[in-house]
Amino acid sequence: MNLADCSSHSATARLLHFGSPGAIYLRRFVGSLHVGRCGSNPTHVKTLRLRSNPPKTLTVTAAMASEAELAASAKIIDGKMVAKEIRDEITTEVSRMKDAIGVVPGLAVMLIGERKDSATYVRNKKKACESVGINSFEVRLPEDSAETEVLKFISDFNDDPAVHGILVQLPLPKHMNEQNILNAVSIEKDVDGFHPLNIGRLAMRGREPSFVPCTPKGCIELLHRYGFQIKGKKAVVIGRSNIVGMPAALLLQVLREDATVTIVHSRTQNPEQIVKEADIVISAVGQPDMVRGTWLKPGAVVIDVGINPVEDATCPRGYRLVGDVCYEEARKVVSAITPVPGGVGPMTIAMLLSNTLSSAKRIHNFQ
Ligand code: NAP
Repeated sequence: MNLADCSSHSATARLLHFGSPGAIYLRRFVGSLHVGRCGSNPTHVKTLRLRSNPPKTLTVTAAMASEAELAASAKIIDGKMVAKEIRDEITTEVSRMKDAIGVVPGLAVMLIGERKDSATYVRNKKKACESVGINSFEVRLPEDSAETEVLKFISDFNDDPAVHGILVQLPLPKHMNEQNILNAVSIEKDVDGFHPLNIGRLAMRGREPSFVPCTPKGCIELLHRYGFQIKGKKAVVIGRSNIVGMPAALLLQVLREDATVTIVHSRTQNPEQIVKEADIVISAVGQPDMVRGTWLKPGAVVIDVGINPVEDATCPRGYRLVGDVCYEEARKVVSAITPVPGGVGPMTIAMLLSNTLSSAKRIHNFQ
């Protein structure tokens, strides 16, 4: 049995016959160790003497005393697999639409500037379009382009009947006004869902946004496809950005979902106490391993949006990606969790394709 924490240390222990006192062998031990079964309250507490030098006493809290029970850990919410399912569904729908009315959905993607990460995201979005049969149109402009030039392209795409979705890759160069540019995208083609009218409608009872932002939509889709109940549950969203945290919190509490939502942000006092109450946690912060196992309620469902590079000399690129939630600790406490990578990331692109298809269907009144 491996035990790791998200501090700079890790502990590795082998646990034999939990029921027999003293039968625990420790190669390295740092800090306290809790062993619990997901989704249930601890019912047994044992204090064990460890065969280490110097000897240590360890309190082990366990739900049940069998090895099988102790080996239980969280279900992995496989975003890669779900995203593939969704992309397959989209491929079928795109070809059905083409056969029936001769229309192929089209997505226009604008990249302004030379940021390498943005260029990678745009390339991935174009590849994803190709893989499901959606047409993509790309505009690349240099960093020093004028805002008016960007607005002109947006205006042309707004009028172009072959384009059903328009995406402006963020962040924009500093001299550009993001608000002016996002507001210029026609609300009917705002597949990123960032237009203030779409966000406003999302927040209002009885109004339907034309599009919901892709990342939070992907989080909710994962909860649905895995059959987790949202209605009546306590949800905590960590982070309140316009593109993830805030729309995720709105989505969780809209009439269809009916969760009771608390938002944690950088000025929140005692975030761990608030998170500990949650049945569902969506974290979108951008701080590696910030949410520790001890913050989480046993049996909670965790959707980790964070994508954070951390140095790792053993990886070919010299770094690896981790989430906001300490995965190794969390998976021993919660009932289900998304991995990073392979959780929310693939869902974001799948939702962009889904929004583009929905837009084309709506514009052409195709059911
Ligand atoms: P952002 O705009 O920087 O927002 C971060 C949010 O986290 C802010 O609301 C901030 O609070 C809050 N925050 C910062 N430090 C905190 C702390 N110590 N405790 C509690 N809250 C804290 O980031 P974002 O664009 O939402 O992205 C968040 C993460 O998700 C990043 O790692 C990003 O790479 C990742 N992401 C992933 C996807 C995907 O497809 N998987 C898509 C988008 C983003 P304040 O409002 O008080 O400043």
